[in-house]
Amino acid sequence: MTVQQMEFKTEVKQLLDLMIHSLYSHKEIFLRELISNSSDAIDKARYESLTNRIIMENAGQWKIKITPDRLANTLMISDNGIGMTKDEMIESLGTIAHSGTREFLKALKERDLKENPELIGQFGVGFYSSFMVADKVTVISKKAGIDVPPVLWESHADGTYTVGEGDRKTPGTDVILHLKADEKKYLDEWELRNVVRKYSDYIEHPIVMDVEKEKDSEIEKGKKFKVTEEETLNSQKAIWLKDRSEVTEKEYHEFYRHISHSFDDPAKVMHYRAEGTSEFTALLFIPSRAPFGIFYKDFKLGPTLYVKRVQIMDHCEELIPPYLRFVKGVVDSSDLPLNISREILQANRHIDVMKKNITKKVLDALSEMKKDEYEKYLDFYREFGKVLKEGIHYDLSRKEQVADLLLFPSTKTGAGTLTTMEQYVNNMKPDQEEIFYITGSNTDEVMHSPYIEAFREKEIEVLIMLDDIDDILMGSLFEYKGKKLKSVVKGDVSLDSEEAAGKDRGQEKYGRLISVIKEYLKEDVQDVRISGRLRDSACCLVTGEGDIDPKMEKILRAMGQDVPAGKRVLEINPGHPLIESMSRVLQQDEKSGILKDYSELLYNQALLLEGSKPKDPVAFTRAVTKIMVEHVKQAS
Ligand code: ADP
Repeated sequence: MTVQQMEFKTEVKQLLDLMIHSLYSHKEIFLRELISNSSDAIDKARYESLTNRIIMENAGQWKIKITPDRLANTLMISDNGIGMTKDEMIESLGTIAHSGTREFLKALKERDLKENPELIGQFGVGFYSSFMVADKVTVISKKAGIDVPPVLWESHADGTYTVGEGDRKTPGTDVILHLKADEKKYLDEWELRNVVRKYSDYIEHPIVMDVEKEKDSEIEKGKKFKVTEEETLNSQKAIWLKDRSEVTEKEYHEFYRHISHSFDDPAKVMHYRAEGTSEFTALLFIPSRAPFGIFYKDFKLGPTLYVKRVQIMDHCEELIPPYLRFVKGVVDSSDLPLNISREILQANRHIDVMKKNITKKVLDALSEMKKDEYEKYLDFYREFGKVLKEGIHYDLSRKEQVADLLLFPSTKTGAGTLTTMEQYVNNMKPDQEEIFYITGSNTDEVMHSPYIEAFREKEIEVLIMLDDIDDILMGSLFEYKGKKLKSVVKGDVSLDSEEAAGKDRGQEKYGRLISVIKEYLKEDVQDVRISGRLRDSACCLVTGEGDIDPKMEKILRAMGQDVPAGKRVLEINPGHPLIESMSRVLQQDEKSGILKDYSELLYNQALLLEGSKPKDPVAFTRAVTKIMVEHVKQAS
């Protein structure tokens, strides 16, 4: 095999640049990342060995070995795992597999890596973190199970790397770090022990190191001699298989940080054993901080799946619905076969039972947190509310349970305080039949919206929804505790019988004016009618009951979707002096140009009030100026 020089892909170059120059204070996590890669490689080999005898015979005891070499100034991390072929090395160590990485790099420029150390490792950039402490990295690997020569990969992180034939007799991988001059502390036995214990204590496979020990001589009393012995540095505790009473909170938290590659404490720990149709142990965590990337398509979700202590897969997405993708943890099944494949997983009865059980446990835990630890729940909700709410749309069988967990500001609570749907229903007026909501960008803006004027006057609470997806979600929820959800910007509104009678009177009084306005605006609106929702404003635009929200419409358009521009209804306020004046003009001169100008102004005003641009800003400004000039003339 000749030595080939290759170029890193652009994004790897960028990433390496960040790694080399990072002033990051937790550089020691490079060891956690390399050990974690080795552990994954061993899991893969062990899994393959179930069906491939050659791997089993070659492997011996699975282990990860750390070898500091003071003379050569290198630190080597070796494993007897699955290894890599030449092509796999080029693929794995020369490119970045995950598409979220581009966003990651962008985010790193905006957010300070120093303050967000957990970002490393969450995006599969683990291996490259070696370059925080090493100026040259050599990887020697031999693939298990097939007869191929070992491969040597080497790079100075200068934009290129080389691949050629390496020297390694048995399957597995050696990663050799040529340490930077100021990172020699990672040759120190004490330092290495500490870092392993801090970050990798729960790794299931032994992490060993040769250590020199002094022993008492058996021949000459009082004399000591030095021996080198392999020592296991990690405790390898399968913490999830212990009884709850045997695990301290600190241990739970450390384990959480270990599996989630993060630095926060979890908001909730769930550790239980399920018995019955499916037997399994679950140790699940609800994090307190959202990992970056939770909204990216390739976000890895699902707990790690073990079968009788053997790790089967890192992220088993079949075990959790995507709207609970923030949950981290471990699930260890007693029923599944060890050689279970992805295809079998998808149609497995046990997996289905486990998923239902886990979903219920998490939702119950959240509802308990909301009831008993509201402040904590608020923090959780700020981080993950947006993810959780997807459940309304995607888990129709549990939509009401998910709705119970949602929090919203309302026209009663104002900005800063939140209420629940349940509280809303409890506070409903005796004759109120519907749950009213309005969507918007911020609470203050919504509080001044013309759409809620009548609701405010009648003291009817309106839920304020600020997330882009809320309108769609409310459409999916449709009703809550038997009460229909209704957007106050859609359809007709009659808050009570008195209001309905007022509308009828208005329709009678302004019938002719309405037809005239309708005629002038026939290109823009499908109808003009008397409003049941306005008090101070003269007019507003409303969509049909089943149409999408104007806010959503704008978002869809911005995303390049072809949203047909449906005509809306212009509602006018019968109690507004402007409508009164227009009606008087109409009585005096049916053909008055003022009526046309005013109709267009009304329409443009309505557009402005909902946050849209006037139809023709130049014509609009000209019309307003004309009125101002008239006004000044009359006043002087
Ligand atoms: P991640 O581990 O998140 O995928 P890394 O950059 O750390 O990201 O590693 C990239 C890939 O390189 C791994 O997915 C794996 O395929 C391969 N790899 C890294 N270290 C080893 C190892 N010790 N043994 C076998 N394969 C490895």
